[in-house]
Amino acid sequence: MRQVQRKAVSGRFVFLGPPGVGKGTQAELLAKDADIPHISTGVMLREEVSSGSALGKQVAPLLASGEFVPDSLVQRIIEQRLISNDARNGFILDGFPRNLPQAETLSVLLKLRGIFLDAVISFDLGKDELLSRLSARRESENRADDNLSIQARRLEVYQEQTEPLLDYYRDLGLLLTVPADGSVEEVYQCLSDALKGRLS
Ligand code: AMP
Repeated sequence: MRQVQRKAVSGRFVFLGPPGVGKGTQAELLAKDADIPHISTGVMLREEVSSGSALGKQVAPLLASGEFVPDSLVQRIIEQRLISNDARNGFILDGFPRNLPQAETLSVLLKLRGIFLDAVISFDLGKDELLSRLSARRESENRADDNLSIQARRLEVYQEQTEPLLDYYRDLGLLLTVPADGSVEEVYQCLSDALKGRLS
């Protein structure tokens, strides 16, 4: 697999795409190649649930039903995570922002620190392929929110709340679209090509 660039790069990215599109896998690969952290709010929230923390107990029913957790809560988590040392030179946000208020909060958070996003990547996949990937994930992963009706709800919530972010970021000149219908390696190649010139 071709590498994007090794070490000492900086890039601040948001990955967007419906559940099951494979953006988490792509984020892992890019994080490793570019040496920047992959920051997934879904992973952080599931860790809270597994640890049995008060926050975990509060969000568990929302995660299990495919609904969003309150904006104020994820915004707090993200704000803390972005000030960590390892996010100083760059990061990949996966699962945040997920609606317009979160996107606006992110812009404010970054502006306050005098930093900006380099690109927002939208992973694009037709509905049939998406449903077949979700079905495969039901069989291979043991996520509490991966049964059929909850996956359908998560897709619906994505369309209603998250898809408007595509126009928001397109208008800001940040949106890059990556077709997500190939193998992991093929999609990563498209991602690498799309990011040329965006990694500093
Ligand atoms: P994910 O792993 O990104 O698909 O997220 C799993 C679940 O975590 C979502 O279905 C939501 O319940 C919750 N979640 C993750 N990120 C956010 C966010 N930015 N805003 C609200 N809820 C979120």
